[in-house]
Amino acid sequence: MQTKTLKIFSLFFIIFALALLSVSFRNGLNRRDEQQKQARILMDTYCAIQAQGSGNTLKIIGKALDRIEEIDKKFNSLNPVSPLFGFNEENSPVTDREICQLIRTALKISEKSGGAFDITVEPLVRLWGFYNKTPSVPGKGRIIECLKKTGYGHLAIKEGRLEKLNKSVRVDLGAIAKGYAVGEALKILKNAGIKSALIDLGGDIYALGKLEGKPWKVGIRNPDGKGILGMVEVSDLSLSTSGSYERFFEKDGIRYHHIFDPKTGYPARGLKSVTVICPDPVLADALSTTIFVLGREKGLEFAKKAGKAEAMVVTDKGEISFSSGFKKLFKK
Ligand code: AMP
Ligand code: MG
Repeated sequence: MQTKTLKIFSLFFIIFALALLSVSFRNGLNRRDEQQKQARILMDTYCAIQAQGSGNTLKIIGKALDRIEEIDKKFNSLNPVSPLFGFNEENSPVTDREICQLIRTALKISEKSGGAFDITVEPLVRLWGFYNKTPSVPGKGRIIECLKKTGYGHLAIKEGRLEKLNKSVRVDLGAIAKGYAVGEALKILKNAGIKSALIDLGGDIYALGKLEGKPWKVGIRNPDGKGILGMVEVSDLSLSTSGSYERFFEKDGIRYHHIFDPKTGYPARGLKSVTVICPDPVLADALSTTIFVLGREKGLEFAKKAGKAEAMVVTDKGEISFSSGFKKLFKK
């Protein structure tokens, strides 16, 4: 009888111990897999990174945000500490390796797109008043004058130095630097062993790995309002959206926005927004701007040729068109 009581007691003890072990194991797992999130205002937008990992995840996210902050200063041609400021204002050649590398990529996209993508639109962005936030429609004569200063052919990179072939040329990396910043933040997360994260830098996003075993669900903003047009399920992919709703003003019922057609000197016409999905965040950023300028047909054709890039465009009339791969990912 005594032995039986002892056995029952032992059994209860074992079950209790196992239950305790399982609770603490689950708690341990939760702690290890916890989602952490940090946000800052960077590159003129709300920037948030959420990631899943062990105890020091917040610290790693902080480092990734610091790197974006560094890029924000270095690649912003309006910031006096940026080598691009010296290039624009004092014609000082740029020798910084990573800036030259990104400009090489930008020049390749300019060539491939027949000049639809062009980082020398700076004088146009300036003339239309988008830097000082009091934009207005300039006279035609001034736009024609301005076009003489634009054109990626006025730039040259020789022996690791960016130089001007025309003293009036100026650069603005606003259409590609955010993608670069996302890519650099991603490197930091990956090097620290993070397997699951979402980097959201305004219109530029990277979805790393999966969220609780499933692809990340990313909403695509409705260019006309607050809601979303739909969403895509993505994993290890970047998304970039360019839209006429980001920076604009209206005059006599016409919307003038910040994405310029370098051929006309006027804001590109025909589209409200373009979203590109591809593995490389730099390419996604540059392509969304390029396709916006090229318009629906030429733009979707361009995405096809770019390889590994999928696009969705929303026209001025609200019509939505997709490349075939994008359509498969899109859900309403
Ligand atoms: P995004 O939001 O990536 O499409 O970039 C738009 C920004 O890129 C603008 O605010 C300008 O600074 C710059 N930009 C405007 N038009 C062009 C263009 N055709 N090619 C390259 N950069 C441009
Ligand atoms: Mg862009």
